Amino acid sequence: MKTAVVCGAGGFIGGHLVRRLKHDGFWVRAIDLKPHEFSASAADEFVLGDLRDRGLCHNVIDRQFDELYQLAADMGGTEFIHAGMYDAEIMHNSMTINLNVLEACRRSSTKRVFFPSSACVYPQRNQCDASRPSCAEDTVYPAEPDSDYGWEKLFAERLYLGYGRCHGLEPRIARYHNVFGPEGAWSGGREKAPAALCRKIVQAEDGEAIEIFGDGKQTRSFLYISQCIEGTIRLTRSGVGEPLNIGSEQSVTIDRLADLIIEIAGKKLFKKHIFGPTGVRGRTSDNRLIRAKLGWAPEECLQEGLQLTYAWIQDQLRNRPR
Ligand code: NAD
Repeated sequence: MKTAVVCGAGGFIGGHLVRRLKHDGFWVRAIDLKPHEFSASAADEFVLGDLRDRGLCHNVIDRQFDELYQLAADMGGTEFIHAGMYDAEIMHNSMTINLNVLEACRRSSTKRVFFPSSACVYPQRNQCDASRPSCAEDTVYPAEPDSDYGWEKLFAERLYLGYGRCHGLEPRIARYHNVFGPEGAWSGGREKAPAALCRKIVQAEDGEAIEIFGDGKQTRSFLYISQCIEGTIRLTRSGVGEPLNIGSEQSVTIDRLADLIIEIAGKKLFKKHIFGPTGVRGRTSDNRLIRAKLGWAPEECLQEGLQLTYAWIQDQLRNRPR
């Protein structure tokens, strides 16, 4: 039986990934600071522990695993990443985890290691025009990410690639672009735009306004979770050692995203634009390289994905203890 480790399995993408690995017949060891918030983990073993602790890392990555997915990170939407006050914590925590996990992989001869980098590594200068941002993989240098979260991801990419060159690991690196779906954070300050808008729209009554940061004309693309998992598995099991975008190419303004969700809700709502963190002006995935390298790119399913996410958040709010 093949074996896998999922670090960060108590989180959004990690939870979905464990389910997929079980479906593929793997024995799975999961690790996280906390249990999964929204469902019982499908993992064979779930270790509650802190990956900043080097000893813990060596104990849980104690033998050669066929695949390891390192998804644990200090993570959030733009309110968290662009707040400024969490920068030291984000860089310190995520970098410590990556250093520890890579050392444990080297010592245990676990070679095939997946790392999720982010669209946040791309330079600000290429993302000033909302209608024509450039996020092709080879535009990442000279580096100029717009957040310390992005700088940490960029350095981590280099760390994984370095362990590949110097210690025989086989890193597989994705640059995810805004992944969304059920079982992701939807309140508390770490949620991303689709979940935050779904929550606000579920809670709003006809005739009310929902608040949107900035003028609403900033663009993004959003990748539904099933496509993220499919891309992650395909990349990890491929021979491609360079970072690839895993994202959607369907660019929408934040206003359009809100309108799509309002339509799904069947409500009559207004949009009120308020001051708040917005990040770069435009960002969307460029899938030319993933198509060329994997012969695959994510399916575009924004509307269907939003319907499923909206229904799930509506359920969460209904069932929340009062
Ligand atoms: P998430 O916050 O839902 O999951 C991360 C998990 O890591 C959490 O459950 C958290 O408890 C765990 N974790 C944090 N510190 C830990 C520690 N010290 N020890 C053990 N566990 C720890 O985030 P996610 O959306 O599932 O993202 C997973 C990965 O993908 C992250 O590395 C993130 O940076 C990356 N990524 C995500 C997106 C996205 O849109 N969701 C985009 C780009 C990159």
